[in-house]
Amino acid sequence: MINFGFAIFDKSVNSVGEAAVYMAKDGDKTIIIIIGKNSAGFKAVDIGDGKFRAELTHENAVVLRKHFPWTAPVRGLHKFMSFGLGDRLGIAALGHIDLFKNKDVFPVFAQQSVRELKFTGRTYDDVLDAVTFAVFREGYKKGYGADGDHLKTKEDVELALSYGFTMITLDCSNHIKKNVTAQNAPALPQKYIDKYLSEEFDIEGIPLVFSKEELAICVEIFEGAISFAEEIYNFINDSKHEADLEISLDETELSTTPLQHYFVARELLDAGIIFSTIAPRFCGEFQRGLDYSGDKAQFEKELNVHAAIARSLGYKLSFHSGSDKFSIFPIIGKVTRGNFHIKTSGTNWLEAMRLAALKEPALYREIHSYALSVFNEAKKIYQVKADTAKIPDISALKDEEVSKLFNNNDVRQLIHVTYGHILNYKNSSGSFVFKDRLFNLWLKYENDYRSALVKHIGKHLELLDSSKK
Ligand code: ZN
Repeated sequence: MINFGFAIFDKSVNSVGEAAVYMAKDGDKTIIIIIGKNSAGFKAVDIGDGKFRAELTHENAVVLRKHFPWTAPVRGLHKFMSFGLGDRLGIAALGHIDLFKNKDVFPVFAQQSVRELKFTGRTYDDVLDAVTFAVFREGYKKGYGADGDHLKTKEDVELALSYGFTMITLDCSNHIKKNVTAQNAPALPQKYIDKYLSEEFDIEGIPLVFSKEELAICVEIFEGAISFAEEIYNFINDSKHEADLEISLDETELSTTPLQHYFVARELLDAGIIFSTIAPRFCGEFQRGLDYSGDKAQFEKELNVHAAIARSLGYKLSFHSGSDKFSIFPIIGKVTRGNFHIKTSGTNWLEAMRLAALKEPALYREIHSYALSVFNEAKKIYQVKADTAKIPDISALKDEEVSKLFNNNDVRQLIHVTYGHILNYKNSSGSFVFKDRLFNLWLKYENDYRSALVKHIGKHLELLDSSKK
C-alpha cells in the first residue's frame, strides 16, 4: 500500500541529477524519499508514483556522504575555536546543529572513544551515520568534524581513519611514566643537555628555565610518549587518510607542568610531527559532568603559560572533560584568547536522562535504583568521587522533584558513569530493560531534548566567549 502521508523535513530537500531527495517522517520513523530516478544508488524500495523509499541504514548514509559532501566530516581544528560533542546515544546532533548553525565555532559532532563504543554497543559507523542523517535532515552545510577520541593503539587509529574520521586524539597515557623523581631518573643524554640547559626560553615574555633535575624528569616521563606519537604520526602520514592530530596527555594522575608541556611540544615539533592540539593534564580536578574543582588562581596562572607556549609554537590547547566547567570557562576564553578546542561528552547523556526523569519519573526511579546497584562496578572503569550515601532517597521524592536530582553532583556522577550498564541491562528473557523505553521516550520528546541541549551547551559557549569580556 502506498502511503502519501509522509511529512517532509523542508530543509532536507535536495537533488541528485534528475531526482529529488529528501527526508520525511513515516509515523515515528525518519526515512529518505527519492522522487524520479534512483540513479544515486540508494538502497530503496519503489513505492510507486515515481517515488522510492530508503531507510536510514549505513549503506544509505554512505550514499548521502558521496552525493552531498557536506554530510561527511571534514578537518576543522585549524579554526580558532572548536568544540567536541560526544553523543553516546546518536540522538543529540539535532540539538547540536540548532546551536552551532549560528555560531562561529567548528563543531566536532561525532566524537567517541573506543571505551564509549564498547559500553553503548555502537560502532564508528553508527556514530558517523547518526550525524550524517541529522546534518542532511537539517540542511546544515557549515562542516563538522569526527573525532576518534582517546585512541591508544595503532589498530584503533587505523579503524577510526578507515571509517572516515577526520580527527585522531592520540591517548599517550600508556607511554607516560609514573612515579618519576630526580633520584630515579637516569642520566641525561647530551642532546637534551645541549638543547634545553644552554639557554633560557622566552615565551611571550615569560622565561622558561629548565634545571637539570626537571629536565631529567621530563625526559624520563615523556620520552616513550613522544616516540609513540611519532610512530602514529608517521603511520597516519603514510596512510591514504587525512586527519587532525591531537596529542592527549591528560589521563594521568599528576598535572602536566608548563615546562613539561614545552618539552613535549618542542620534541614533537623538532621531530617533524604536525599536530593541531595538545591536551595537557591541567591542575585541579576535571570531574566528569561536574564543575571544576581546585585552585582557580593556580589554574589561571598555569594556563597563562600553557596558552603562551601553544600560541608561540603554533597549535591549540585542548580541554578534556570540558562538560559543565562553568566556573573556569571565562578564564579559558580569556587566557587562550578564544583559541582552543574543548571536549564535552557525558553531559549530553545527562541531559537526556534529566529529560527522562522529568517526563517519566516512574521509569527514572527504576533506572536510578539499578544505577545505585551497579555503581561500584562502574567505578572501576571511570574514576569518580561520587558518594552514594549523599544521594537523597528517591522514594521520598515527589514525581515533580525527581528531575531536580540532576542538580546533585553525586547523582550526576552516578548516572554519568553507569550509562553502559543502564543501556545494556537485559532481563532473563534477553530483552533490554531500559534501552528501548528510553529511546521511545527520547523520540517522543525529541524537541524537548533539542531545546535542552541548545540551552545547556549554549551556556558553555556563552561563558567561553572571550569577546564578551
Ligand atoms: Zn581526555
